[in-house]
Amino acid sequence: CGIFGVHGQQDAANFVALGLHALQHRGQEAGGIVAHHPEHGFNNARRFGYVRDNFTSHSVMETLPGPVAIGHVRYSTAGSKGQTSIRDVQPFFGEFSMGGAAIAHNGNITNADALRRELTERGSIFQSSSDSECILHLMARSLQRTIPERMEDALRRVEGAFSVVAMTRTKLIGVRDPLGVRPLVLGKLGDGYALSSETCGLDIIGAEFVREIKPGEMVVITDNGVESSYPFRPQRPRFCIFEHVYFSRPDSILGGRSVYETREAIGRELAKENPVEADLVCPVPDSGTPAAIGFSLESGIPYAMGIIRNQYMGRTFIEPTEQIRNMGVRLKLNVNRALIKGKRVILVDDSVVRGTTSRKIKEMILDAGAKEVHFRIASPPTAWPCFYGVDTPQREKLLAATMSEDEMRQHLEVDSLKFISLDGLYRAVGEAEGRDPQHPQYCDACFSGEYPVKPTDMIEKGFEM
Ligand code: 5GP
Ligand code: SF4
Ligand code: MG
Repeated sequence: CGIFGVHGQQDAANFVALGLHALQHRGQEAGGIVAHHPEHGFNNARRFGYVRDNFTSHSVMETLPGPVAIGHVRYSTAGSKGQTSIRDVQPFFGEFSMGGAAIAHNGNITNADALRRELTERGSIFQSSSDSECILHLMARSLQRTIPERMEDALRRVEGAFSVVAMTRTKLIGVRDPLGVRPLVLGKLGDGYALSSETCGLDIIGAEFVREIKPGEMVVITDNGVESSYPFRPQRPRFCIFEHVYFSRPDSILGGRSVYETREAIGRELAKENPVEADLVCPVPDSGTPAAIGFSLESGIPYAMGIIRNQYMGRTFIEPTEQIRNMGVRLKLNVNRALIKGKRVILVDDSVVRGTTSRKIKEMILDAGAKEVHFRIASPPTAWPCFYGVDTPQREKLLAATMSEDEMRQHLEVDSLKFISLDGLYRAVGEAEGRDPQHPQYCDACFSGEYPVKPTDMIEKGFEM
């Protein structure tokens, strides 16, 4: 998901809408905005579909006045796939004795089921099926006097990954979990401030990038500026390495590194580790493009747009059901026949998950008359599901969970299939020594199976680590 907040701008919601538009790649199912105005109080709008279709009309935006606003773009992870109801669309809002508060959450709470059980037993009335709503109910039960303090209380009970943007009548609040799994950045906009999942959200509104919110940090923004605190027990950070590979936008800066340049470096590593003779390097667009450029630069094999993407389709994997996803491949991608015919083609993609996209693409490429097809993948085999806010299917549906690399190659019916190594990936994100096996510098659970936070709910449901 993507989260965004603005403090200290007239009609802050307009800026939030733009920020969410820039973060649309992080969630396309639905979006919502809450704003507060001194006279008109809290208002919200939550809608299914793209930001540009919902939060551009005057009739919607004029219902969201005020100098503080937050927003959220959603895609459903664990649990509610394909049956999201509008009740599950964030931000969530609650009234407390000291005033109202709204929250928008990116990530996944790994003990949400347990918390929900406890809270409902004690009388909480949940409005949604979302794990994120737990935070509000925990805040309601806290005995602290201020909303930021109640948030601290609540988040200390929450396990898993969370980047949160929240607001009160006068404050904008940003928090990252102690591992800093999901991103969150601070920007300066005139006399005010903005919080965004990624720096590309700051760029679109002309805000100046100030810094990242640090793992375990809480910032409270008021008319007097930014106050920072560290309410959690400090831990070694474990940022999601997959944000570098796929999830973030290539024009964003993560941990001081250009996502685009990282992906290009991944492509170079991939070419060094797994060279092959061929005529063309083609990306599977758009997610494979920077890595394919890196592969081409390193190998000296010409880069070509052998597959053309229809720009009017969204990301395939965010489509909630398998059937739609299957159709999606052809609706979204088409082979550039003239280029491909008679050629030995290297296809570079960011990841192989279920293998459905990859199989379809291979078929299309062979239909177009390619002589050989070599897959090169810019991440290690995805063998484990993510429980921290990226939508991967159940373990059984992950190709790499049940097949060896060679079995996958046979299944995809390609001439060769190679993945970057985990160490190669770490080198590409700037860890010259590779992965530190004692203290891995990132979360890489979907590749390694080493989960930095115990997935309590999933273990209860029978998941075996
Ligand atoms: P597959 O061949 O596994 O069906 O799809 C791989 C391609 O689709 C990659 O380009 C990747 O960007 C995207 N993709 C499809 N499904 C998923 C998914 O569930 N999770 C992730 N992270 N990416 C996916
Ligand atoms: Fe990111 Fe994978 Fe960790 Fe999920 S499991 S947070 S996708 S690295
Ligand atoms: Mg892709």
